[in-house]
Amino acid sequence: MRETWKRTSIWHLLVFGLFAGLTTGCGGGQGSVPSPDRVVLVTIDTLRADHVGSYGAKRAHTPNFDTVAATGVRFENAIAPTPLTLPSHASLMTACDPPAHGVRHNATYRLGDGIPTLAEHLRSAGFATAAFVGAFVLDGRFGLDRGFDVYDDRMEGRRSAQVGFAERTADEVVDAALRWLQGAPPRFFLWVHFYDPHAGYAPPPGFASAFASHLYAGEIAFVDAQLGRLLGEIEGRWPAGRTLVAVTSDHGESLGEHGEETHSYSIYDATQRVPLVLRGPGLPGGRVVPSQVRLVDVAPTLLAAAGAAPLPGVDGRDLRPLIEDRDPTERIAYLETLATRLDYGWSPLFGLRDGRFKYIRAPRPELYDLQSDPSELRNLATTEPDVTARLDGLLAQRLAALADRPATGGEVVLEAADRRRLRQLGYVVADSHGQRSVSLDVSGPDPKDEVGVLGVMADAQREAAAGDVDTALGRLASVRSAGVAVPLLRSSIAVAAKRYRLAERDARFVVARQPERSDAWVILGRALAGQGRLTQARRALERGVELDPHDALAHTLLGLVHETMRSPRAAETCYARARQADSQGTEATLRLGALLLERGAFAEADAVLAELPDDASLEPEAAARLAAAANAAGRPEMAKRVLEGAGKTSLADSLPTPPSAPDSSPAPATR
Ligand SMILES: [Zn+2]
Repeated sequence: MRETWKRTSIWHLLVFGLFAGLTTGCGGGQGSVPSPDRVVLVTIDTLRADHVGSYGAKRAHTPNFDTVAATGVRFENAIAPTPLTLPSHASLMTACDPPAHGVRHNATYRLGDGIPTLAEHLRSAGFATAAFVGAFVLDGRFGLDRGFDVYDDRMEGRRSAQVGFAERTADEVVDAALRWLQGAPPRFFLWVHFYDPHAGYAPPPGFASAFASHLYAGEIAFVDAQLGRLLGEIEGRWPAGRTLVAVTSDHGESLGEHGEETHSYSIYDATQRVPLVLRGPGLPGGRVVPSQVRLVDVAPTLLAAAGAAPLPGVDGRDLRPLIEDRDPTERIAYLETLATRLDYGWSPLFGLRDGRFKYIRAPRPELYDLQSDPSELRNLATTEPDVTARLDGLLAQRLAALADRPATGGEVVLEAADRRRLRQLGYVVADSHGQRSVSLDVSGPDPKDEVGVLGVMADAQREAAAGDVDTALGRLASVRSAGVAVPLLRSSIAVAAKRYRLAERDARFVVARQPERSDAWVILGRALAGQGRLTQARRALERGVELDPHDALAHTLLGLVHETMRSPRAAETCYARARQADSQGTEATLRLGALLLERGAFAEADAVLAELPDDASLEPEAAARLAAAANAAGRPEMAKRVLEGAGKTSLADSLPTPPSAPDSSPAPATR
């Protein structure tokens, strides 16, 4: 492997040698290089390498990322193991490919307790550890919080009954990180995750207008500005020469290539090639490494640079010998997605990417020469059978080796339902004795033949958002696929349109197959409540909030059901939990205030209602309910105030009066 200097000025070499103490021939760069006092890892979700300025993007505005690249090491070909957020971050944190760490999809897997992590090893080496993540997909419950003293995964404004993960914007993530930095000890490991470039693309107004024709680039520009804010604060407070910074992404975005608008269901470079830059003590400035590297190489590099113990028996390797031109060993990248199987019932995809070729094991295998065909448009699998067979053999060897691999500190622990499901599918899974089995089974429909379904779903989502529910549902009815993705989308559209029977049928289909999905339980609860089947609705919503206690809307819906069932105290508890989960939401506050007024708890009601923002637009149903309670309690000024603030649609729209409820019932939902 060779690497090149992007800028080979003698001044650069001299300056670097003077300040970083690293010169060629100084014992491989060890010894005289100071260890960093701070390790900062930033992951920018869904960031394609070729949409970053330093990677050649013409229309990008990424000056802060590019400054790190210009003063550090930029890896031209960094490869993510999977196009899925949680599994890919698990690889970053454990240096293991997904079959080894066991996290194969979002939301339904948890990192096993036995797999050592980057954060644990840095903490053992004396670093305080803190993480600030931007989306529910990385919630601490999925296991990435292990090793962190602080794991800030607080999301507000949840949208549980819609498909997609709750998120917070990059400025909110940086605000939280900066608050922690105020009191941070001198030695720390900080991980910051930005979710913004994920679809749908909705950058803040200034960025939206500047990038009106390419909102994805606008999201990236906004995140870059926040990256600048974060690094500016850190470097303003502590000397830059003692801070090791890594910035990368978990996967890219297909943007229509190969028929995929976003990511998850293919492993082409559009989703697998990510930006990666490193800057810090002992690392040259302005270096570009063209050799292929992998996300699993990041943790070993950070640990070695920080003088911490390495992660044992992992797939990744320290990048510093490669940067110093002392490591000629090719780093072959493993690739997979099981989302095709788990969401749609199609074949999974497995792959290997070396410096020149990419091989994809699929019902119809694929081989691309990345040098002559970087867009992966000419499948050479049949014209280059020897290369295909060689890479297929390597792939099989690689997974078979997992079965004999020395323990990495423990076995993957899956919930029983996951284990059953995976065993049915035949993928790598440890049985109750810790024995692993490995499969590369690619039976089932080929994802590249089925990819049109993704476009149909995207069209249906757009139509539903525009209010054309019949067209959207009709479109989805024509789709034949075995997984949960189509029923889940259809149930979310149907429940919002009050097609409760259809929503119930589809949500039941999903929870029967993936009982750990809180979003499907909440949709089911809404659908049942909408039909007046309140006891069943309550059970479904209780399951939803048990699985996701941070889901404010689910708590509010459960409160509405309790109110309708004339259990006001239980409803109060639900509204209080909703307020804890989302301090910005006003519906739970209005409804809790009404209940408190009704039972004469005026001081408590005043305290709760004092938290309503003056300029909030309030849900009309909830505002009317509070106004009635306020009038009855002799508080007309309060009634007037909330009615003036009413404007939005209420959740109660989806909860008609149950047939058994008398007219005088305090039921909040009356239409
Ligand atoms: Zn992601």
